[in-house]
Parts: sequence; structure tokens; C-alpha cells
Amino acid sequence: KCQTPDDVMRVISEKGIVFIDLKFSDPFGQWQHLTIPSHEFSSETFEEGVPFDGSSIRGWKGIQESDMLLIPDPKSAFIDPFIEDPTVSLVCSVVDPITKEPYNRDPRQIAAKALEFLKSTGIGDIAFFGPEAEFFIFDDIKFSNGSNHSYYEVDSIEGWWNTGREEMPNLGYKTPYKRGYFPVPPLDKTAEIRRDMVKTLEEVGITVEREHHEVGTAGQGEINFRFDELITTGDNVLKYKYVLRNVGYRHGKFVTFLPKPLAGDNGSGMHTHFSIWKGDENLFAGDGYAGLSEIALYAIGGIIKHGKAIAAFTNPTTNSYHRLVPGFEAPVRLAYSARNRSAAIRIPMGSASPKAKRIECRFPDASSNPYLAFTALLMAAIDGIENKIHPGEPLDKDIYSMTPEELSDVPSMPGSLQEAIDALKEDMEFLTKGGVFDEDFINMWIETKQAEVDAIRLVPHPKEFELYYDI
Ligand code: GLU
Ligand code: MG
Ligand code: MG
Repeated sequence: KCQTPDDVMRVISEKGIVFIDLKFSDPFGQWQHLTIPSHEFSSETFEEGVPFDGSSIRGWKGIQESDMLLIPDPKSAFIDPFIEDPTVSLVCSVVDPITKEPYNRDPRQIAAKALEFLKSTGIGDIAFFGPEAEFFIFDDIKFSNGSNHSYYEVDSIEGWWNTGREEMPNLGYKTPYKRGYFPVPPLDKTAEIRRDMVKTLEEVGITVEREHHEVGTAGQGEINFRFDELITTGDNVLKYKYVLRNVGYRHGKFVTFLPKPLAGDNGSGMHTHFSIWKGDENLFAGDGYAGLSEIALYAIGGIIKHGKAIAAFTNPTTNSYHRLVPGFEAPVRLAYSARNRSAAIRIPMGSASPKAKRIECRFPDASSNPYLAFTALLMAAIDGIENKIHPGEPLDKDIYSMTPEELSDVPSMPGSLQEAIDALKEDMEFLTKGGVFDEDFINMWIETKQAEVDAIRLVPHPKEFELYYDI
């Protein structure tokens, strides 16, 4: 594992590295990259940065001020398993080439500012995150136009149905609906692919704790890796998605993190385990409810209070809200509980050790940008702690089976991306404290997300044909 620029330079010469691949997150959590031959790369590059044109990256600057600098982080170096020539990949932050200030729309820099802000409050000095990003492994659909991409332009309802899908008829045995969870192979058809994913994750420096098939019909999976501090975990989530997608691709499969790809089946969440520490003291451990400290309860209070606005970052796609419905182990209410998987925040009770005490936020999904999702949770927790926002009583009942009257005092998750954006418009102060998120960034976010909502509104939904076509 590299720590310094010199460590990276040593790897480059010892391993005969041919290319350096610089990767960075766009605002929406998609890794972008540019590649340079290793002779163009030196230890000064870590200081000077690599100029690039950011004008065409979605959500970034217009052409009038397009140049930016990538600053590679030596600690993020890994040998890229998906590039045939020996290649070192480096995760980068983005700075302004003139002022050398962090670029305000770089999500990794936003996370870095959140950490500084946490320290400046005196509350704690480190925040740990442990995400569980679920996914589906689907056959990579081949289209009759020759492409094998699994997304396509839909400009009419005929386009929707007639995109040239050429699926083979189901003549043989397929694992029946819901019977893939969680028997041994041959019912578990994706075990080998998941193990391949695990091996590759470990090769690139991610320590895996376990993997298993998930509850969704044959092909949903989950791989858990070791928690780490905010920025490293943000890097790890994007690395995880990169590895899973590429391993899947090599098996002729497409791995999707879409929160709800199948109607009537479980969706894919990214439950996020979270704690704040000062030195080697876990501030969330105590002798209150479920072994929590008062600080942890206030953190929960902050997350519940700002939950609807946080959702604009933790659940940032229109599809996210198809997942947050009753009956599929996804949360619908902003409540907390030690037992209850239908609550937005669960307190895992698996370990008695104070070091392991944490809260599990169950609403985020992996269509989010992890840096922003974790930062939004942290900022809400800080707000809760600073203002001593008590979360009220825990809700230790199955929320799915409670009546609307019983639930009348329990706030809901937003029902749609529109609701989440509207909540964010009204409630952004907790995010802009300490200049962590700035208004320019939040406004860009709101505009982009509103455009997505509007784009969906323009397209008639297939379900409408079932409901209304012959009315
Ligand atoms: N897939 C469920 C969700 O959408 C979670 C299942 C689990 O408890 O791991 O959050
Ligand atoms: Mg799971
Ligand atoms: Mg979980």
C-alpha cells in the first residue's frame, strides 16, 4: 500500500508500469478518467497536478472557465486489474488551476471540507462509514442493432417495447422466482461471479468481510467490505462499483446498482453504518437505548429532522423512490429502532463491544454519490449534536403493519425525488455550515435533479397503459 508520491514512483519503476490512469468522481458519483503514459508522470505531478478540460462533465463548469487540475492522492494507488498493460490507477481531487483552491463542485473536496468542519466543531475528529451496496447481476442484453449496451434511448412507447431485445425463450431450468436466496449452488447461480468480485476487490486493496446472495430474485447480491473514514470509504464505494461492473462484464453480465430494477421484488439499498470518534473513543457508544450515547441519539435526531432533505443526496434518482415502499425491507418512515428493519435507522446489536457501536442508516442507495451521501448524513448528525435534537422514542414495531393513525406522528421518507428536492430547497442550512456544501453546488444539484424529474414526466409510463389504455 502506497503512502507517498515516492512509494507510487517506486511501484511504477519496479512493476514496469506503462500507464497512469487518473480517476475522479463527477458530481453524480460516476468515475471519469484520463490516461497518461508513465514517462509523462513524475513525483512532481502530485504537487503540480494534471490539467484537464472539465467543461463537458455533467454538472461542472461551462466552456468559459473550463480548465481544472487533477491532484492524484498517492494513498489511493492501485494496480488496475481491468487494463491489460500494467497500469497504476490513482483517485484524484480537483482544484482550480489559478487559485489552487478546492473546486467547489468536486464531491471529494466537499467530503474533505466536512471532515475539517467536524474537527472545527470540537465534537470529534473522525467519522467512520461502512456501506452495504446491494446490486443485481443481469444478463447483458444484446440488441439487434449489434450493440450490447443495456440502456437505450426511448423516444416513444413503441421505442420502449421494440428496442430489438432478442432474448432466448426459457427452455431450460432457471432458478425460480425468489428461490435464489440463499441456498448453495446450483440454485445460487451467481456465487462464482461474486467470489471473482471478492478476489478482485482484495487485489485492489479493499478488505472484504463477507459476500452473499440477497433476497431479490436470482441474481441480487451484496458484498461487505471493511468500514473506513469518510473519504477512503467514498473512494472505496466507487472502486467497488468499478470492480463489480467490470468483473460482471467479463462474465457476460451487467451489474446494476439501480435501486429498484424489478417491480414487485426487493430493491438494492446502500445501508450505511456510521459512527463519530474522538481519538480512540467511539462517541456513539454509551449506556442509553441499545447501548447508544446521548451524542448518538442527537445524531439520530439530526438525521431524522433533516431526513427529507438528506434524501436528495442519499436517494437522488427518480428510481430511488420505487424502492422506499412497504414490504421489501426498505425503510418508509424516519424512525429509529434496535430491532426493526422497516425503520430508517437501525441500531445493530450483533456486538457488545463499544468499539463496534454504530447506527445503520437504511435509506441510502447506491445511485447516490457516496461522498455526498455520507457528507449529508454527517452534517445532519453534527447539526443534531450541536442543537441537542432528541429523536423521541424508538419505534420497536413492524412499521409495515402499523395503521396510518398509529403512524400519524412518525415522519415519512419523501415519496418522490420531487419531494426530496423541494425539502432540500427549504432545508439546506445544515449542509452549508462551515462552507461544506456551497449554494452554487446545491443549486446545480437542484436544477439537475429537477431536469431529471421533468424528463420522466414527459414519458408515458407502461403501467399507465395497463391502468388507463382502454378506459
Ligand atoms: N434490499 C433491502 C433494501 O432495499 C435490504 C435487505 C437487507 O436487509 O439487507 O434496503
Ligand atoms: Mg442486504
Ligand atoms: Mg444492512
